Amino acid sequence: MIDFIPVNEPLLDGNEKKYLLDCIETGWISSEGPFVKQFEELFAAKVGRRWGVAVANGSGALDIAVQALGLGQGDEVIIPTFTIISCAASVVRAGGTPVVVDSDPITWNMDVRQIETRITPRTKAIMAVHVYGLTVDMDPLLELARKYGLRVIEDAAQMHGQTYKGRPCGNFGDISTFSFYPNKHVTTGEGGMIVTDDVALAERCRSLRNLCFQPAKRFVHEELGWNYRMTNLQAALGLAQLERLDSFVTLKRSMGEKYNRLLSGVTGLLLPLPSTVYADNIYWVYGVVLSHEIGFEAEEAMKRLAAKGIGTRPFFWPMHEQPVFKKMGLFTHVSCPVAERIARRGFYLPSGLALTDLQMERVADMLKEILA
Ligand SMILES: *Cc1c(COP(=O)(O)O)cnc(C)c1O
Repeated sequence: MIDFIPVNEPLLDGNEKKYLLDCIETGWISSEGPFVKQFEELFAAKVGRRWGVAVANGSGALDIAVQALGLGQGDEVIIPTFTIISCAASVVRAGGTPVVVDSDPITWNMDVRQIETRITPRTKAIMAVHVYGLTVDMDPLLELARKYGLRVIEDAAQMHGQTYKGRPCGNFGDISTFSFYPNKHVTTGEGGMIVTDDVALAERCRSLRNLCFQPAKRFVHEELGWNYRMTNLQAALGLAQLERLDSFVTLKRSMGEKYNRLLSGVTGLLLPLPSTVYADNIYWVYGVVLSHEIGFEAEEAMKRLAAKGIGTRPFFWPMHEQPVFKKMGLFTHVSCPVAERIARRGFYLPSGLALTDLQMERVADMLKEILA
């Protein structure tokens, strides 16, 4: 039996154990512990924001961001169709309407050239989501937001340590969100962060994270929030991970470049773009798309790789093709051909920080075999 190569394995060999032990020894395990504030401050500073609000996960960060901006009934929010459900769900749960744009065929990020055609008098915000390794082209997006007076939410969940034209991801728009799920460059097991420069917005996020308890009359509520608090245990992990972010990014980039070398020239395989004029690929995950020469789709390729002991994940499934939203009457007559194609033809290879050179070589060999 060959060893299975999982799609993701995190690296936890820095100060993680030391800080976790500190939590146990001091008894600070809830969200009241001191690591939470330290993690918020260090994280916000890292992306050049004034305020950080640590939360239970990246999906919750989006829920809070949408609510904090006051988006709701009758409001349209422009989002990429090629993203995780959390983006559309946060808008729908707030009572708003997500409006999708297709992907750029090369970077897989939202095609910002399509945004203006989706703007209506009801449009209130744009949610920019950077996917897989390259960033959304932010300058034209921000220009449109200025022109039409729209709020901007930046979902930078996959972009820890990435920059756009030298400026850190997490530094764009009114509010930015992150996730610390184990496949993200910084993990807390489960966790998320909201960052902003606006003190009032930060305070609203803190309140929404904590059930909208009121300082004066704790159990009297003017508004509904969530319990989306991050624990001291999670923040302990996060702090230890954050100390090593720069080396993680260097490691991810060298892994991406190694896959590029191993897979260059393989017929039927479209590889990720190493860079655009505004960003170098950070290879959050190493995604590939099967080209028309291949007579089967990603699902079949992933099945064949699994049989050879290689773990993979499919690409996102477009929001406009989600049964849950179709049942709500959303996205009728929407077509986004690029996202529809890459969703069916794309998947990603083992990309975790603990992946070894030898494992990458085996992944590349097996991939070539199943495509031959
Ligand atoms: C991972 C991710 C999220 C959700 O984060 P969770 O912590 O898993 O809830 C949101 N947006 C994007 C782009 C992500 O990759």
